[in-house]
Formats: sequence, C-alpha cells, structure tokens
Amino acid sequence: MTNPATAATRPGPSGLSPEAQESLQLIAEGITAVAGFGVAAIGLVRDEHLEMVAVAGSPQARGELTGRRTPLHLLTTELEVADDWGLLKFVPHERLRSDVETWAWVPQIEVSDDAEAWHPLDMLTAPLLDDDGAMRGLVSIDVPDDGRRPGPTRRRLLERYAAQASRAVLRELEREELAEQVRLAETARKVVRRASRQRSLARILDESSEALVEGFRALGMWIQTFDEDGLGSGTVHALDGTEVELSAGIVEIAERSARLAWAAQRTVVVARGRLEDGLSEDEREQVVDLLDSIDVGSILFVPLGVGPECLGNLVLTRPHGGAWWSDTEADAALDIGRDLGTAILNLRAFEREHRLVQELQALDQYKGQLIATVAHELKNPLTSIVGYLEMLEGEGLAQGVEQALSAMDRGARRMVRVIDDLLLLSKVGDPANPVIPRPVDLRTVAADAVDLTAVAARQRDLEVRIDAPPYPVLASGDPDELDRVLSNLVSNAVKYTEPGRSVTVALARDGDEVVVECRDEGFGISAEDQERLFTEFFRSTNPVAVAQPGTGLGLAIVARIVERHGGRIEVESELGRGSTFRVRLPAA
Ligand code: ADP
Repeated sequence: MTNPATAATRPGPSGLSPEAQESLQLIAEGITAVAGFGVAAIGLVRDEHLEMVAVAGSPQARGELTGRRTPLHLLTTELEVADDWGLLKFVPHERLRSDVETWAWVPQIEVSDDAEAWHPLDMLTAPLLDDDGAMRGLVSIDVPDDGRRPGPTRRRLLERYAAQASRAVLRELEREELAEQVRLAETARKVVRRASRQRSLARILDESSEALVEGFRALGMWIQTFDEDGLGSGTVHALDGTEVELSAGIVEIAERSARLAWAAQRTVVVARGRLEDGLSEDEREQVVDLLDSIDVGSILFVPLGVGPECLGNLVLTRPHGGAWWSDTEADAALDIGRDLGTAILNLRAFEREHRLVQELQALDQYKGQLIATVAHELKNPLTSIVGYLEMLEGEGLAQGVEQALSAMDRGARRMVRVIDDLLLLSKVGDPANPVIPRPVDLRTVAADAVDLTAVAARQRDLEVRIDAPPYPVLASGDPDELDRVLSNLVSNAVKYTEPGRSVTVALARDGDEVVVECRDEGFGISAEDQERLFTEFFRSTNPVAVAQPGTGLGLAIVARIVERHGGRIEVESELGRGSTFRVRLPAA
C-alpha cells in the first residue's frame, strides 16, 4: 500500500504535549495490534500539510514516517476517488494517480494477482474531521497481517479506532489551541505593557523582543519602521541589538508587502517551497535567499500600523525544520502589530513634540538675544540724549522750547525704563546665566521695597505695612532678583490702589517654602486680564489702571525670576476689591 504521509518534505517537530503524543501513539499501536496491521500512522493537519505525529509498526516505518509532512492537496486529490467505507476511505491502487510513488511511501511487500490481496500501492485512511467538516488529521493504515484487503468485520473494528483517534486528535488540537491562546495573550500583554512605556524605537525593541521571541517560540525577530514620510528605511533592528542593512530590493519588497498585508489585515508566512501570493517568483526567490543566508527556515511577516496607516513590519523567524506558524499565532501577531503600531505612533508624536519644544526653546533664546542686543544698542544713544536734555534744562530757553524739551525728556526717560526692563528680562530668561542661590532674609528685602515706594505711597496717601515674624524669613536665591520681585509687586500695589487705602506685605514660612503675599485694596484685575498678566508688555484692559505709567514688563520679569528660583506665583483678585499676589520660594 501507499502511505500518504510520506511525501518527501522536511520532518517537523509535532509540538504536541507528551501526554497527547502518548495517547495518539497508543491508538496507533492499538490499530496495529488489535486490527492486525503492520503500520498505523496518525497525522495532524498543520499549515496545509499533513504532519505525522504518531506511528506504530516496524522501526523502519516509524523512522521514515514520524514527522513527515505531505502537502494536503496531493492527498485530498487522491481521496476524491476513494471508496466510501463510512469513516474509512479506501483508494485501490488501480485508481491512484500514476506518480504517487514520487511523494508517497510504499512498503516492501509482494504484489499478488489475487483481486482481494493487499497491493503495496493500496491506500486506506480515515480522515479526522472537526464539527465544521474540516479535515484536522488523518489515520493511515497499511500492511495487513493477512495480506488481504479488509472485509466488513475488520472495517468495523478499524472504524471504532478511527472514531477514537478522531476524538483524541480533536481534543488535543483544542487543548493545544487554548494553551497557545493563553501563551500568546500573555505575550501580547507583556509587549504592550513594555512597548508603551518606551521613548525610543530601540527601547521598544529591547523591551518587547524577549517576550515576542519567547511567546512565539521564535528563533529571532526584527522590526522595520517606515519613516514619517512613509518610506521604508534600509535598517532593521535585530534582536541582538545589531542593525542589519538590507538591500534596496528587499526593503522595497518588505515595504510593499507590509502595506498590502496591513490593508488586508493579515500576516504572511514566507518559507522556501511555499507559495505566497502578492510576491512574484523573483521576489520570493530574493526573500528566500535572504532567509537562507541568515540560516532561517521560515518567517512570520507582521505588518505594524494604526488605522489606515501602515507604519512598518515585524518579522519573527524560525529555524529550518521549526514548527509551523499556526492561525492562532498569526492572529495574535497581527494584534501585536496593532499594539506596536500604536506605540510607534505615540513615539513619533512624542519625538515630534520634543523636537518642537527644542525648536521653540531655540527660538526663545534667539528672541532673548535679539532683545538684549537691540536694547544695548538703544541704551547708549539714549543715555546721551537724556544727558544733553538735562544740560539744556534751566538754560533760559523760550517757553515753547522748554515745553518741547520737557516732553522729550519724559519720553526719553520712559524709553530708558523700557530698555532697562528689557535688559533685565533677557538676563533673567537666559539659561546660560543661572541663579547662584544664597540665603536671603525677605524681611530686609520687603523693607527695602517699601522704602523705595515710600514717596509714591505718601503722595497717594497709602499706608504700606509689613506683616513679618520677629525672626528671619530666609529664601534661597539671588538677593538682587528677589529685590526686583518684591519692589515690582509693592510698586504695582501702590500704583493700582486708590488713595486712602492700605497695602500689606506679609511674610511667612510654610514647610520648606517661604511665602510672600502682597495684598492691596486697589482696582483689582478681571479674570480675563489675570490670564495674560504675566506675559510681556501686557497692560490692563481697565482704563483706570492703564492711566498709570508702566511698561507692561514688570510682572513678566517677576514671573521669570520666580520660575528660575524654582518657585511659584499666583494671583487672587476681584475687580474693585483688590488683589493678592502670592509668591512661594524654596526656603534656605
Ligand atoms: P506695568 O505695571 O508696568 O504696566 P506689570 O507687568 O507690572 O506692568 O503689570 C501688568 C498689568 O497688570 C498692569 O498694567 C496692571 O494693569 C495690572 N496690575 C499689576 N499689578 C496690579 C495690582 N496690584 N492691581 C491691579 N492691577 C495690577
């Protein structure tokens, strides 16, 4: 007889659990012993092949049959012309295709003229079908002890074994699938958890590759991503951390295949001798040559993407003679392709943001330098203008000229204030000029600030109080800069408060911070204005407030100084009721 499980393809490990292997082996041996046959083999359908996993019979038959893989289509073509013996299908040798010897194993038994005698090319099998009628395995029986084709009694006995084998095979496949699903779900969980935490592709690969290789029982893996402009790069990041340069041809094939596979939402298995649609003969040859060159038997090619966009591909490899990629594995890999796609997209968004922040920082620095340069250039001529205006004062000029000069003097002084503020703003915004902190008693700083505004406060009939404890309130910072903070806040409070009211500067220690509060009973600031209060050149939309002279730079300077000291500033205010500016600074 011909044994259908013997087409000369590579042997593959069954991947069965030892228990399943044993139970199938017992069934095969039962057939040989009880039903009286020399050889019985049980095969499982895997990846369009029948793979023999349990063989009973002579050591020679076992050696030749175990692990053999036969393309399924060769077998099903033969079975189309079989006699239907219930669960058993019998193809007498005279009906077999002529070239069956080329792919099937033929036992060494004598050919007899007797019509009922067993012929070496006779084929007796029991296909094992699942509930949907799909063939999941096959029992193949050969070499009857009595040398005859089996009669009704023998067939009944064989049928009982076939039914038993069928149940065992289906149970095993189910168990296997379940175990596989659990294993792959665990892999996916690990990959997602690790990949989503990473901030570079190399790290994503590092963190997920171990789980992927282990979970998929792969030999190795690599990931290729497409650039943001959608082009594939020639570099693949391999498991051992090396970067492998791929030929332009392979990159192009991988890129196109990834897009096709992503559009169809499927994975692709590539191996020598396997037909893969979507690849031309020549392309397949190139890929298989590559696999040969790195000693890989088969790959599971997985597209990575998000939504309609394909972002790259993941390749898992197995050695020659390695297990086949199951549908469950392919499905799980595609899911992981989606998760990795999301991680890559997030990574890109992060990188884009990071770049943008860097660009903005560079722009900000440039702006600062520009302002500083312009301010310096303006300062010198302005100083001489102010000087000459002073010299002209009281020179007994005509009244109209005196008036004009005084207006020029006011304007020039205002310009000096703006320029001084701009210079300070650029100084405190310059990262190359960091704060050199030391302990600063804020009580002294507050007293100086109040002194500085004493004249203005008196003119406006304002009472300015300091509410401080009798011991030092030490902030950690630059005394001149902290001086600017307090004098700006106090002078604003004085400037923007109606006569007759009061201003309080309160100092306190709060944990490892010191708190300065500058409270007034002034005009207050609308909620809308509060939002832009600390931006450069902002001046109130409140006409009463704008009537007071100012550059709109004071609070921007205050905010920068507080920020570079590692502190915070906040404001509470209500129109018509007053404002409180609260600054928190690290305590010394
Ligand atoms: P300037 O006082 O030179 O205009 P600032 O940056 O110090 O610039 O303040 C910006 C604006 O915030 C001021 O024009 C003013 O309208 C408002 N402002 C600041 N401090 C107070 C305050 N204590 N009360 C009311 N409005 C204030």
